[in-house]
Amino acid sequence: MSRSAVRPSSRRRWLRVAAVTGATPILNLPAGCASPPPGASRGGGAPRVVIVGAGVAGATLAVQLKREGGEGIDVVLIEREPRYVSAPLSNAVIGGWRRIEQLTWGYDGLRRLGVRVMHEEATAIDPSSARVRLRDGTSVHADRIVLACGAEPVSARIDGYGPEVQALVLHAWQQARQVEALRQRLVRLADDATVLLSIPRAPYSGQMAPYERACQLATYLRQTRPRARLVVLDANPSIPVAPDVLHRIFRQRFMGVIDYRPNCIVTDVGGDARHVVLEGGERVRADLLNVIPPGQAGRLAREAGLTGADGRWCDVAWPSMSSVRWPLVHVVGDAVASPPGMAKSAAMAVAHAQWAARSILEALLVRAPEDPPRRDGAIVARQFAFVDSRSALGITSVHRFDAARGTWSEVAGLPADGIDEQGLPLQPGVRGPGDPQGTQALAWTRQLWKDMLET
Ligand SMILES: Cc1cc2nc3c(=O)[nH]c(=O)nc-3n(C[C@H](O)[C@H](O)[C@H](O)COP(=O)(O)OP(=O)(O)OC[C@H]3O[C@@H](n4cnc5c(N)ncnc54)[C@H](O)[C@@H]3O)c2cc1C
Repeated sequence: MSRSAVRPSSRRRWLRVAAVTGATPILNLPAGCASPPPGASRGGGAPRVVIVGAGVAGATLAVQLKREGGEGIDVVLIEREPRYVSAPLSNAVIGGWRRIEQLTWGYDGLRRLGVRVMHEEATAIDPSSARVRLRDGTSVHADRIVLACGAEPVSARIDGYGPEVQALVLHAWQQARQVEALRQRLVRLADDATVLLSIPRAPYSGQMAPYERACQLATYLRQTRPRARLVVLDANPSIPVAPDVLHRIFRQRFMGVIDYRPNCIVTDVGGDARHVVLEGGERVRADLLNVIPPGQAGRLAREAGLTGADGRWCDVAWPSMSSVRWPLVHVVGDAVASPPGMAKSAAMAVAHAQWAARSILEALLVRAPEDPPRRDGAIVARQFAFVDSRSALGITSVHRFDAARGTWSEVAGLPADGIDEQGLPLQPGVRGPGDPQGTQALAWTRQLWKDMLET
């Protein structure tokens, strides 16, 4: 690998896409695990990065590495599913205005870019020797491993939500089959049915997604079953994002439909699939339960000892995204322990991928020294929540990198913006009619798919 393999133009692009900051990662390699010289692999040939998980973070990272590193880097992407099904916009399937096929994409764009996509389940990693074991018994060596396995909903954290009850009570969180099944159950409901949505305590995947789901369920019920209602049991003391606007939407637009209750932690799911029990003992009954359990980093990350004191989320060194325990392993996306106020969202997963790509390329490829990493950046992340099929709420969060503390601090959040379906601003004075957030939100989602999958 020659110095010229990283072109000046692409270096400039790193700075642009990283949008942020970047301290050169200091890698304290474990004994017996010396880094090869830049541009070479420990296994011979081009340095190899093995990414596990081809969701938002993993696919984006693969694109970045290949775009910037070209032939100089071998990118292997291990994904257990044959096709990507987007979580963003999946609430629209429940609302009935999108089909799951419209959110489903293949990985051919990545293959065309030179990424080696393998459809396999990774069953373990050896973080000290940087090997990934696969379900078929083989293993793949790497110069860097990146875990981009997302978060998994853990039903076992709620009593009674065992495998039998899981077949009856759906979470429909990150699983396309469950999303479709929840929609089918919804359309079969009686006119006066009660639906129950339970939201876990933050953090969870998709900061606004449970509230978007509440809006989608409520819109559908209001349009088709005026006598039906939705009970929202929120384990959080208040809505963690844009609370004023969302409370107003729940109270005004969905008056008589949504019964929102904060501080309601579900501790037990009834085996009859018709009730839950709250901390304190209250039983809440409904005809259809949608219980979203708390989440945690995927099994692979937990078993490799990458999670922090809470045992749930992975601690990383920002912004290289390398594990604080195993420097040859990086973690990106929802599995990462987020600093306060930083959402687990697609925008953040993309930012993680960009920072990790930059750090990995700096470590593995020969890089001209006259391009010092920036330490002064901020990350501006956008999220949307559809209220119905046409209008959406937009939220912008800003975090600034605090180099002294080596982490991110939240800059005072910007006000929510968006319009309602009558064209009235949700937040008077912020945005007016003629700024259809639904259109912006759809365009944002399409751009996400395009960037991550090279569609
Ligand atoms: C219902 C819902 C709606 C959402 N809506 C939005 C939204 O509108 N906007 C927004 O910004 N964010 C939204 N989010 C959050 C967003 O989807 C996540 O933040 C983002 O997908 C995180 O990316 P990731 O790469 O970490 O995980 P994922 O995108 O979940 O990808 C993880 C991938 O790893 C694979 N994998 C896991 N383990 C293994 C293994 N052992 N071997 C092989 N493959 C493995 C999985 O199959 C999966 O493809 C939503 C989330 C949900 C659940």
